[in-house]
Amino acid sequence: MWLCFYCYTCQSRCPRGNSVAVINQVIRGMQVEAGRGVRHVEMFADWAVQFYEKGMGGTPPEFLPHLAEAFGPRWREFIDRREEIRAQLGLGSMYPSEHAAREMRALMDATGFSDRLEAMGAAVHRGPASP
Ligand code: SF4
Repeated sequence: MWLCFYCYTCQSRCPRGNSVAVINQVIRGMQVEAGRGVRHVEMFADWAVQFYEKGMGGTPPEFLPHLAEAFGPRWREFIDRREEIRAQLGLGSMYPSEHAAREMRALMDATGFSDRLEAMGAAVHRGPASP
């Protein structure tokens, strides 16, 4: 169950339309709610923190050197210059607006998501939430 990474291949191939991926998500949630399996989700905490702070998940900074080693210097240059490249193409920022990010923070605060992140030891920088 903990090895599933939600590629959804099982869902797209199942002739009965079942989805092991979705079942896994539910069972994982139940396990974490019961205090089990937290160590399996801790590694994703920094990704979730970025979601909280920017309104969009992203690769945690500590993973970037490893990815750069795997994908090479052109990839790293692309990552470092993403916003500049997008501006040149007239695409604007890839991040949601601050208004949208504030709404997402409000939802995450109201549902206890941010509290749970902090309980896992994640450094959540609480920005302004929507009123
Ligand atoms: S269980 Fe399904 S979604 Fe998860 S890794 Fe296997 S094929 Fe992919």
